[in-house]
Amino acid sequence: MQSFVHESRACRVVFGRGARQHLPRELDQLGLRRVLVLTTPEQVALGRQMADLLGDRCVGVYGEAVMHVPADVARAAVEAVHRAGGDGCVAVGGGSTIGLAKAIALNADLPIIALPTTYAGSEMTPLYAITEGGLKHAGRDWRVAPRSVIYDPDLTLTLPQSLTMTSGMNAIAHAAEGLYASDGNPVYSLMAEEGIRALASALTCLKRAPTDADARGDALYGAWLCATVLGNLQMGLHHKLCHTLGGSFNLPHAEVHTVMLPYALAYNAASAPQAMARIARALGRGPAPAGLRELGAALGVPRSLREIGMPAHGLDRAADLVVQTPYPNPRPIERGQVRELLQRAYEGADPA
Ligand code: NAD
Repeated sequence: MQSFVHESRACRVVFGRGARQHLPRELDQLGLRRVLVLTTPEQVALGRQMADLLGDRCVGVYGEAVMHVPADVARAAVEAVHRAGGDGCVAVGGGSTIGLAKAIALNADLPIIALPTTYAGSEMTPLYAITEGGLKHAGRDWRVAPRSVIYDPDLTLTLPQSLTMTSGMNAIAHAAEGLYASDGNPVYSLMAEEGIRALASALTCLKRAPTDADARGDALYGAWLCATVLGNLQMGLHHKLCHTLGGSFNLPHAEVHTVMLPYALAYNAASAPQAMARIARALGRGPAPAGLRELGAALGVPRSLREIGMPAHGLDRAADLVVQTPYPNPRPIERGQVRELLQRAYEGADPA
């Protein structure tokens, strides 16, 4: 029998095709009258659609969100919301846009409503990061977690095919590590297994039919479950590897998760057999590391660090950084073995 502590945080989730139409109602729920809509330069047209839905309750569209939340962008966004007399933010986009909203929430103590358009999962977490002077400062504070999340699968129909696949694998990584988290519990394990199952099956379908509305819905449902796991449990070696490779070598976020997950699972396989069995069951193929590689091959995602721009001369430094401040992990994190894992991932070799 497993002993555990389970804590639930209040977050309202509105899910369904066309659910973005409920945005005005969500503002009512929170008593908001003057919100700033945040988005990336690429998604400004979508931001304007949200602004149109809100009419004079929207004080502007701020389309400056970029990857890694640079501190100067965050400061400018805080100024923009103050200048406009905003009382909250609506973030419509992926992890970069929601990350900018979190930086505003942290500095200006304003509530966020999120409409995620990728599967990255930031909308369900208290995790934030701001980058200054080449360093990513990360933190955890439930004040930055969105108060209301609208999941509308139609918003993901425009997601490019490659990002659909890698972003889905990014979400699977949250759930996979949740299954062996030191603070895990049976409720989050149910969510994790179901999240992996829903995503693996939906991504396979989306590979053939990118605009299949049911598959888009299933993928977003899976992403929500995986994101809930990420927000509530401690992540291990895989997330440490990805934060190091993304933060210090500027590798693309979703791709690096996609490449690294089979290798991190192979490293942990013997120390977390029950988690591995559940991952394999959810994928419908196993053992877990090989099953993920197979899924990746079927989805046509990148399979080596070399392919996504990692320089070979950076592998030693990456191994040093990973062991300096390791995350909790079922198997002790040893420098020599991490270096070997990185070499295999660099080459795209068999993870086992
Ligand atoms: P992203 O938000 O950077 O988006 C990538 C690109 O895709 C952007 O140009 C964006 O405008 C575009 N895009 C997004 N959705 C689209 C859609 N439906 N249609 C067309 N284009 C679309 O990518 P991401 O992977 O969602 O987020 C990555 C960032 O989020 C990283 O910085 C990562 O660290 C952060 N993140 C944070 C958490 C957290 O809990 N704090 C969790 C996951 C990711």
